[in-house]
Parts: sequence; structure tokens; C-alpha cells
Amino acid sequence: MKTVIIGGVAGGMSAATRLRRLDERAGIVVLGRSGYVSFANCGLPYYIGDVITDRAALLLQTPASLQGRFGIDVRVKSEVVSIDRAAKSVTVRNLSTGERYIEDYDFLVLAPGAAPFVPPIPGVERALTLRNIGDTDAMAAAVDAALTRGEPTAVIMGGGFIGVELAENLTERGLTVTIVELADQLLAPLDVEMAALVEKHLVRKGVRVLTGASVSEVCSDSVGLSDGTWLPATLVIAAIGVRPETGLAEAAGLELGGRGGILVEEHQRTSDAAIFAVGDAVVKRDAITGDQALVPLAGPANRHGRLVADVIAGRAVSSKPVLGTAIVGAFGMVAAATGWTEKRARAAGRTVRIIHTHPANHAGYYPGAEGMSLKLVVDAQTDEILGAQGVGGAGVDKRIDVIATAMRGGLTASDLADLELSYAPQFGSAKDPVNMLGFIAENQRDGLTQTIQWHELNAELANGVQLIDVRTPAEYARGTVDGAINIPVDDLRARLDEVRDDVIVHCQVGLRGYLAARTLTQYGRRVRNLDGGYRTWARV
Ligand code: FAD
Repeated sequence: MKTVIIGGVAGGMSAATRLRRLDERAGIVVLGRSGYVSFANCGLPYYIGDVITDRAALLLQTPASLQGRFGIDVRVKSEVVSIDRAAKSVTVRNLSTGERYIEDYDFLVLAPGAAPFVPPIPGVERALTLRNIGDTDAMAAAVDAALTRGEPTAVIMGGGFIGVELAENLTERGLTVTIVELADQLLAPLDVEMAALVEKHLVRKGVRVLTGASVSEVCSDSVGLSDGTWLPATLVIAAIGVRPETGLAEAAGLELGGRGGILVEEHQRTSDAAIFAVGDAVVKRDAITGDQALVPLAGPANRHGRLVADVIAGRAVSSKPVLGTAIVGAFGMVAAATGWTEKRARAAGRTVRIIHTHPANHAGYYPGAEGMSLKLVVDAQTDEILGAQGVGGAGVDKRIDVIATAMRGGLTASDLADLELSYAPQFGSAKDPVNMLGFIAENQRDGLTQTIQWHELNAELANGVQLIDVRTPAEYARGTVDGAINIPVDDLRARLDEVRDDVIVHCQVGLRGYLAARTLTQYGRRVRNLDGGYRTWARV
């Protein structure tokens, strides 16, 4: 049996090498358009930033090494230009010689990835994109050239993961960077109050961030924004997002999903039983609803590539829906997310409970503890975890990965209370931040505590609800929510006569507010605690 694979990077190469491991006799041909296969896309921004200095380190395999170890026929500069489904063959153009030839297959795997989206605005041809080694060489040369000029500047269109990574790396190289983002926040997989932390950090590190802004024109050394502002721009980069490469599939009459990717079932089969598809080009199933989703991430591409090889080799496996677990780092700050945001859950009509906490990555008494902000999005009716986000330093990755694992395993938010996680003071806390989210979820589920979100507060205050800041007078003096009176948590029992029947309490991060709420509730008051405290509220 002969399998032809189109695209030899994440999904395609995972399929090829797994198939060889399962079937020594399979014919395997990999056709890649660029001059390289199996390169480290995710490392490209760090080569631009000189963090990875050895270009060869980006090239994980070569056609020769893949032939030598796996007996795989890998052909670079070989673009598939059409698929003949009836004849079970593809037409390949050799990009070095211009020759065309026919390659037949028993099974065909499409792993063509997704192309950067470049908006149709005047002068945009000057904008650089980053997808492959060729792009990387061009961008690295452009950065080197820019650095020979007086005050090099870069405008990055798009504040997603790649835009933020490039902002860090170009700043470290000595360019003055502006991110121009159309949405009102960076990093769409985060909610606005979590993304605000990343934005502030970038600004502290010298990156200019313009949200709610768009580039309308690119000129030779500047860009124009739609509000009439002009920004100097030695370099212009488009990092607006990617579009699935579906041209071949569409021309071959394969079914596409509603969101524009190639439609596949749970064995990654397309509408043609002999043709599979994986990676950024395909529509995936959302883990919360099973709806179609585009999730252009390396994890699903690699896992699904491996899975296709299993299916071709006759193993009984099927792909799982995806959570979209993702992480990005910038100037030492980490932002990670899994599942849905609050905004997405609300837009889908879910009734949600939201939990914000601001724990340390390990016991506070052990030197070097770093803070983080965590957010859990919970279905208020079922206690299902819909999503989680974390922003901070060390340990954010671990908490989001634990929660992603819990979601995959079908645990509820309250179940997080009972997870048994590794602990010694330099690594965590006996009540780990993930456990703490579970405790709060359990309290909320059981009606022991009620919270109010930062964006709901103003409406309540306008209705005349009493707001009590239960922090110390010194903290209160440094800044509080407008209209709050100060009764420190330790004084509450003595000053009960000042507390009305219906009250909102807040502290710095939510913990003392919770204590206050428990005390006052037992004295007959209806109490809501400002979730995430003053810190979350003040952020936005
Ligand atoms: P790709 O890996 O893109 O491979 C597709 C290949 O197919 C390309 O080389 C393309 O040239 C080739 N091809 C397309 N059409 C044809 C054709 N007709 N004939 C022959 N060849 C063809 N994801 C993460 O999870 N974490 C990260 O940190 C991360 N960082 C990233 C940083 C950058 C700069 C980029 C570009 C992506 C990053 N990603 C990251 C996304 C991740 O790389 C992709 O999700 C993943 O590579 C998708 O795998 P794929 O196999 O679908 O496509």
C-alpha cells in the first residue's frame, strides 16, 4: 500500500514516521512545497530574536535523514497542484526544474497547513510574514538591515500569539515595536482583564500597543492607521492570523466545513474515504460543544497526524475534540489558556460562574515565589469546567495543563478541590492554586459564597448597593473602588451596625472578602464578594 502525504512538517511528518513505525512495508512519499521538511515553526520567532542562534537547530530532519532512518521518500520543492480522485493520483510540480509528473496513491494525507492572512490594503506587499524557513531568512535579513539604520522601528499588525512573540524578539534585537490590534485587547484566547496584564507588561518593556486600531496603508517607511495616525515603520509584519490551505481539497471536490477548513470525521477521513486530512487545514471538533472549530496549533496537528497513520495501519483509534490549550511567553511573563473564555461562554448563552484568584506559584515563605492570576470559567448549572486562563510567571503552565487534563478527563470544577498534586515548598502549596479554584467552585456550587464580577460592579453601585473595602486602612488609602467605605475584615463583628442588609465586599485579591462574606452571611446579611478583588477590578 502506498501513502502520499502533502506537507512535510507537523502533521504530515508525524503521519509519515508513525506509519513507518507501524508498517515496515508501506510505501510512503512526502511532498513538500518549500525547501525544507520537519522544521520547527514554533521556534522561528526565537531565531529572529537570536535566542536560537544556530539556524540548523530549526531543521529537525532532512530528506536524507528521513530516508536513512525511516526509508521515507521525502521530496522538497515539490508542490502538489491537483488531485485526481478517480485515478487516485496527484500532479506534482518540481519547483526546481518546473517539471510536472503524476504520483499515484492508495491513501492520500493532506497536511498543507494554513497561510498567514495578509489584509488587502495599499502597500501591503512590503509586509513580512512568518510561516517557514524562507520567511525566516527574509525576516532575519530585514532585521539585520534595519539595525544598520538610525532608529529602526517595526509595526506588527496583529496582537495574537505570533505577534506578541515577535514583539518580544524584535524589541530584544533593538527595534522599537508597535503592535496594532483591531480588537479591544491582545490575545483573543484570553478575556480582556487577563489580556490587560500582558499588555501592561509589554508596555513596561517598551512595546507600544494600540488596540482598537487598524492599519489602512503601508508606505516605504511608515504605516497609516485608519484614524489618520502615521507610525514610522522600518519593518512591517502581518501576524493577523492564518487561513486554512484548502485550495487543493476544494478543487478536488472534497467537502469543506462551515468555518472554511477541510471537513473530516473522527478518523480524520475527508469526504473521500481514501483521503485523510490533518492540522491547520482542517476543521476540528470543539471539546465543549462538538461544534466545528479552527484550532491552528501544533499539538492537534502532530497528534492527528500520528492518528492517521494508525487508521491507515488498521488500528481502531479516533481523534478527540480539541480544547485549544495554548501558551505564550513574552519578556518573562507567561499567558496560557484552555477551553472557552468567559466572553465566548456568555456569547453561547451559557450561565457561568467565574472565579479569579491571584496565588503564588509556590509557598510564599519559600524564597522566590512568583505571583500569577488564574481564571476559571464554569457552567453554573452543571459545574462543568468550560475554560481556564493563567497569566504570570513560573507555574502558570503547570496549572493550565492540570486543568486541561481535568477537562479532558471530564472532572467538574468542584472536583479540582480533590486533586492530589505534588507539593514541597519550592514547587507548590499544600493547597495548590488548582485546589483553591476547586474550593471556591465548591463553595459557589453549594451556595456558601456568592461573587460579583468586576464588570457587574458599576451597575450595582448605581443601584445604591453598599460596598465595603475590608482591607486595612493603609491599603484603602492607597486606592479603592469609588464609593467604598472601609471596614477592615478584623473589625467587622464590632461594626456590624454599619453594615446594611445587602452588601458587596471587596479586598485585594478575594480571600479576605470571602472571609468577610462568610462572617456577614452568618449575621443575616446578603453578601457578594468582588471576585478577584481590587486587583482584578483595577486592571481594567
Ligand atoms: P505546517 O506545519 O504548516 O506544514 C504544512 C506544510 O505543507 C508547509 O510546509 C507547506 O509549505 C506545505 N504545503 C502546503 N500546500 C502544499 C502543496 N500543495 N504541496 C506541497 N506542500 C504543500 N503552535 C503551537 O501550538 N505552539 C507554538 O508555540 C506555535 N508557534 C508558532 C510559531 C510560528 C511562527 C508559526 C508559523 C506557527 C506556530 N504554531 C504554534 C502553529 C503550528 O506551527 C501549526 O499549528 C502546525 O505547524 C500546523 O501543522 P500542519 O502540519 O497543519 O502545517
